[in-house]
Amino acid sequence: MWRNWAGDQQCVPATVERPASLEELRGAIGRASAAGRTVRVAASGHSFTDIACTDGQMLRIEAMDRLLDVDRPTGLVKVEAGIGLGRLSQELDRRGLALENMGDIDEQTLGGALSTATHGTGVRLGNLSAQVEAMELVLADGSLLECSRSSDEDTLRAARVGLGALGAIATVTLRCVPAFTLDRLDHPLPLAEALERLDELVDRNDHFEFYSLPHSEIALVRETRRSDDPPRPRGRAREYLEQVLLENRLVGLMARIGRRFPSQIPRLNRLVSRLVGSSRKVDRSYRVFASKRQVRFTEMEYGIPRAAAAEAVRRVLDVIDQRGFAVGFPIEVRFVAGDDAYLSPSYERETCYIAVHMYRRMEWYPYFRAVETIMDSYDGRPHWGKRHFQSAATLAPRYPEWERFQAVRRRLDPDGLFANEYTDRVLGYAPAHERSAAAV
Ligand SMILES: Cc1cc2nc3c(=O)[nH]c(=O)nc-3n(C[C@H](O)[C@H](O)[C@H](O)COP(=O)(O)OP(=O)(O)OC[C@H]3O[C@@H](n4cnc5c(N)ncnc54)[C@H](O)[C@@H]3O)c2cc1C
Repeated sequence: MWRNWAGDQQCVPATVERPASLEELRGAIGRASAAGRTVRVAASGHSFTDIACTDGQMLRIEAMDRLLDVDRPTGLVKVEAGIGLGRLSQELDRRGLALENMGDIDEQTLGGALSTATHGTGVRLGNLSAQVEAMELVLADGSLLECSRSSDEDTLRAARVGLGALGAIATVTLRCVPAFTLDRLDHPLPLAEALERLDELVDRNDHFEFYSLPHSEIALVRETRRSDDPPRPRGRAREYLEQVLLENRLVGLMARIGRRFPSQIPRLNRLVSRLVGSSRKVDRSYRVFASKRQVRFTEMEYGIPRAAAAEAVRRVLDVIDQRGFAVGFPIEVRFVAGDDAYLSPSYERETCYIAVHMYRRMEWYPYFRAVETIMDSYDGRPHWGKRHFQSAATLAPRYPEWERFQAVRRRLDPDGLFANEYTDRVLGYAPAHERSAAAV
């Protein structure tokens, strides 16, 4: 039985293989194909959807985690796709390099994070897939395909955000930047002020995001800029207090109280919003971007045009009030530059990402449905790794290069060896999926 991080997606693969090298990866795919089974790479399971699930062959490639080539002057780094983002960051830092932007955790594998268009925040910076220069994929027939910006750019633009549906990503060449320090200031602001000054706040920071706690009128604003100051890593005691006790234990306690007494959630949120203070962190970029998340929840996130951000946040908060949803987790709002990967939710548009969360074993469905209706009105594109209710029919019109992605998919995986129920739903049916069900 395989389960995702949140514990609410599970599947029983027919077989699980753990290749540790390119040759073993090719061998495993060949065996699945010969047995008439479909194949999914499941990585660290940090997606909230069934995107990694399979009843065919599951591949775990975390042992493929080596740095293969580092070219300091150009910043080009070739790495195996099973490496975790945390270890990748440490290895890069040792070599004086860094990823130019990251999301808020570093537990994911590189291959998994790319496949769902994982992003951080920073309106002048693209998502993780925008940092990819080249990739090597093992295809359904066992062959190795290399695509790069200079050769076969069409395939690369599909594969950078491929939903695991084109082949198994074996290696990735990333364009990294010289290691840098970030200065992050967290502070509360009245929500009305944060929304009114949104453009200014987004533009004046390298990385800007804010959290809005439903039922309260306070936003926790996170302003992060590059700094020439030396890193000032926090002591262990301070790190424990902030990361473990406040960000996880206290949040977990509030979430449990809220689940037990949902009618008290508005009061709890208002209490929390009065306690929120300011804090500053100056450290190496990867230690500022990522934090630990121990409280388990489920999540939906949508990318909408940046210009609609303030209005959309207001509408989400209004629908929570009007429908009486008990929401103890904040709404998270981030900003990302447009890019050119065919299935990137920020494809060719400056994007505001709005994420909503619900503590595990609490009712999330009506809340997420209501939020999705709002996001639909902005031509919203869902995060591929987070909950949504879209299908290929509703998604196709939102992606200008939808057909080009489908053409690459037909060329690379004509029989749907890498299909699962999720890809059937969001990309359209691939014929081979039937074979897997028959083979199990
Ligand atoms: C606590 C938490 C915080 C998060 N924070 C953020 C955030 O800040 N920003 C954001 O954008 N997202 C965030 N996410 C979502 C997360 O980044 C994505 O869901 C990501 O895809 C998870 O990566 P994974 O390694 O766990 O991949 P999985 O979830 O295991 O797999 C995701 C997909 O990638 C495919 N895949 C994985 N490896 C390969 C490979 N080598 N070849 C081909 N296909 C492959 C799988 O088949 C599957 O389709 C967060 C999730 C959690 C649980």
